[in-house]
Amino acid sequence: MKQSQMLIPTLREVPADADIKSHQLLLRAGFIRQVASGVYSFLPLGKKVLKKVEDIVREEMDKAGASEMLMPALQPSELWKESGRWYTYGPELMRMHDRHEREFALGATHEEVITGIVRDTVNSYKKLPLTLYQIQTKFRDEKRPRFGLLRGREFVMKDAYSFHDSFDSLDEAYDRMYEAYANIFRRCGLDFRAVIADSGAMGGKDTHEFMALSEVGEDTIAYSDQSNYAANVEMAPVVTEYAQSTEPMKELEKIETPNQKTMEEVAQYLGHSVDQGLKALMFKVDDKFVLVVTRGNHEVNDIKLKHLFDASVVELATEEDTKTLMGAGFGSLGPINPGKDVEVVADNAVKYLRNVSCGANEDGYHYINVNPERDFEATYADLRFIQEGDPSPDGQGKIQFARGIEVGHVFKLGKFYSDKMDASYLDQNGRSNSMIMGCYGIGVSRTVAAIVEQYHDDNGMTWPVQIAPYQVHLLALNMKNEEQKQLADELYTQLQKAGVEVLYDDRKERAGVKFADSDLFGIPLRITVGKRAGEGVVEVKERSNGNQQEVEKEEILQVVNQFLASE
Ligand code: ATP
Ligand code: MG
Repeated sequence: MKQSQMLIPTLREVPADADIKSHQLLLRAGFIRQVASGVYSFLPLGKKVLKKVEDIVREEMDKAGASEMLMPALQPSELWKESGRWYTYGPELMRMHDRHEREFALGATHEEVITGIVRDTVNSYKKLPLTLYQIQTKFRDEKRPRFGLLRGREFVMKDAYSFHDSFDSLDEAYDRMYEAYANIFRRCGLDFRAVIADSGAMGGKDTHEFMALSEVGEDTIAYSDQSNYAANVEMAPVVTEYAQSTEPMKELEKIETPNQKTMEEVAQYLGHSVDQGLKALMFKVDDKFVLVVTRGNHEVNDIKLKHLFDASVVELATEEDTKTLMGAGFGSLGPINPGKDVEVVADNAVKYLRNVSCGANEDGYHYINVNPERDFEATYADLRFIQEGDPSPDGQGKIQFARGIEVGHVFKLGKFYSDKMDASYLDQNGRSNSMIMGCYGIGVSRTVAAIVEQYHDDNGMTWPVQIAPYQVHLLALNMKNEEQKQLADELYTQLQKAGVEVLYDDRKERAGVKFADSDLFGIPLRITVGKRAGEGVVEVKERSNGNQQEVEKEEILQVVNQFLASE
């Protein structure tokens, strides 16, 4: 393609509201343009990259036995009412009316539509298992659309759904999808981890998120420094074996601690370290009030709390609640004599402590010499977030943290939708059963941004060959010089004939502008036709490592092919 004929509106300045590299570079290089908050157009170069990712996804899905289809973005509310999600999805679901005042949603995901279709078309075990997928635009009215393509309100997703007559069959499809995802992200060049994730309210057991490692990721991954264990930090169980303190128990004492509220303030005031104090937070767990006690330097993991009570909503209680129920505000709560309607649970680490401090349920007072085994009753469980340095849950190595961008998600749904939407089939004995389902998503446009986060330098993007918008960037430094123009034209034709994807910068721009744009675009191999065009010699440079060499025109094709084969 000739660059003079393309729309590539580069920007010299970093756009003001773009805080991360992928957002800045994709805008600056003219790959994308913002239309509204969280809504982007893919311009020609951006569309090329998007398509490369889509093609990899498509190939791997087809290989995994899934068949492609396309469902509408516009979805009638009736379907969402059947699953109940019309009422539970919240404001992220974009809702609208047609001219007859009928309600619609713009699809945030397609479980309802696909379940409706399969329910109407499949009724026998003979047609199962079945896996269907699409690559399609999703709409979510995100609270904070940001980071360009990473969190949009309109974005491209690959979503797949599988239908089964047994959990074994679901497990098989899940494993196949997991493999396909690993292949996809490997082929995209991403450094990623598949991490164990929370299955949330869906009641599913297995679920993995695929995380591209990146400082700008919103998720924290807890991984082992010695095995391939990796989990979303919310999910990692703490398996530390705590040692019982052998200090002799001292007498419980109530001490005035005026205006000392945070763990740090109280610890300093009482002259001990933060881990010698107990932290007590009151949560509202569905309709119940629960006081959660941890060691002062540990953090309550509300997902573990939610699982412990099998609850649907867990939130911090208000200070008004603690005053009414416990008789004290946030800074002075503790497990000794809690309010009569308050249940006390404590993290495993608490049990083995001796002579620690805690709030006295009276504003401005704390107890010292608290001994959990002697002074209060609690249900003990794993309730804290894992920390760096804790033993890995698989028994191998220690936990370390990394940040990740969630690029994909595989999930066993079970019968959540099929039960609600009456998607059933007849089994071998003629009995009717709900179908068992799985769902599998990839953020295709988010993946493009994640790749840029991992592939860039100070001058621009450095695309892996298989994702780059073009394989070769051909630059004629001075289009007014007949020799240069002629040789560049000749190479362009030759490369195109050989099936190489070439972008030909045939613009009448200064050499400096061409080089800067070329670095910005990040096309893996650059061929520059310049001063030595008369001798038939050009310069070939690799974008990612800066390696360059002079090559005679007769050898260009060989050099290019060698490079492409080596990547
Ligand atoms: P997140 O926790 O990032 O909001 P999610 O759990 O809502 O993600 P899913 O519903 O599992 O995401 O959607 C499948 C995939 O779609 C995600 O793994 C992610 O890659 C992508 N995705 C989700 N929301 C967005 C968004 N707002 N913009 C771009 N991609 C998204
Ligand atoms: Mg989300």
